[in-house]
Amino acid sequence: MTPRDRLSLFERFAAVNPEPTTELEYTTPFELLAAVLLSAQATDKGVNAVTRRLFPRANTPQAIVDLGLEGLSEAIRTLGLYRNKAKHLLETCRMLLEKHGGEVPPHRESLEALPGVGRKTANVVLNTAFGEPTIAVDTHIFRVSNRLGLARGKTVKEVERKLLKAIPPAYRHNAHHWLLLHGRYVCKARRPECWRCLVSDLCSYKPKSLPPPARSALDRGPIAPDVAPDEDQIAGAGDATRNARSHADV
Ligand code: SF4
Repeated sequence: MTPRDRLSLFERFAAVNPEPTTELEYTTPFELLAAVLLSAQATDKGVNAVTRRLFPRANTPQAIVDLGLEGLSEAIRTLGLYRNKAKHLLETCRMLLEKHGGEVPPHRESLEALPGVGRKTANVVLNTAFGEPTIAVDTHIFRVSNRLGLARGKTVKEVERKLLKAIPPAYRHNAHHWLLLHGRYVCKARRPECWRCLVSDLCSYKPKSLPPPARSALDRGPIAPDVAPDEDQIAGAGDATRNARSHADV
C-alpha cells in the first residue's frame, strides 16, 4: 500500500466516524481496565451486561477487594473463564492499592506488571483512557491489516510494529478503533463484506466478496439481527497471537 493510499484509507475512516471509541462501557480508567480484563473470549455486549451490574456496586480497586473472591466470582459468573478473571482482577486491585495509590498507572511497564495484564490490555488502556497513539492488535486488527496490505505480519508484535510505522501520525490515536470496528462489522473473519467496504479499492485482498444473491421475500425467513460476530478480544499477547493466526486468512 502506498503512502497516498494509507492516507486515503484513514481519511475515509475519519470522515465516517470522526471519534471512534471502544464499545466497552466505562467512565474511569479503572472501569476500563477492569472491563478489558473481563473481556477475554467474551463479547463486549456480554462484558457490558456484567459491568452494568458490577460497577454500581464496586468500581474502585478497594470496592472490588471488599467484594472478595467469592463475591466477585458470583458477579461475573456469566462470563467464560470467570474464576481466572476474578482472581486476576482481585490481584490487580490489590497491586493498584499497594503500589499506585488505587489509581491506574498511565505507563506501559507498570500496567504490564499487573496480574492478567498483557501488552494488548495495556495498549487498550493507554490508547483509550490516556490518549496514547498505541495499537492493541487483536484478532480483528491482525486480520484487517493483513488483508488490506496495510501491515503484513505473522505475529501480533510484527503487525503492531508495522502499523505504527505505516499509519500517518495524525491518525495513529484513532487507528486502533477504526481498524477494530472495520474488522468486527465489515471485514469479518469468515466472509468479508467487500461489496459495502469503503476502502475496497485500496485493499489487496482477492477475490473480493460479492453481495449475497437477492432472494424472494418468501425465501428470506426471519430477519437476522445486525450484531457483531461472536468472537472477541483476547487478553494477553500469547492468546491474541494464537487467535489472530487462526483468523489470518491472508
Ligand atoms: S475490501 Fe474486503 S477484504 Fe478488503 S478491507 Fe474491505 S472488507 Fe476487508
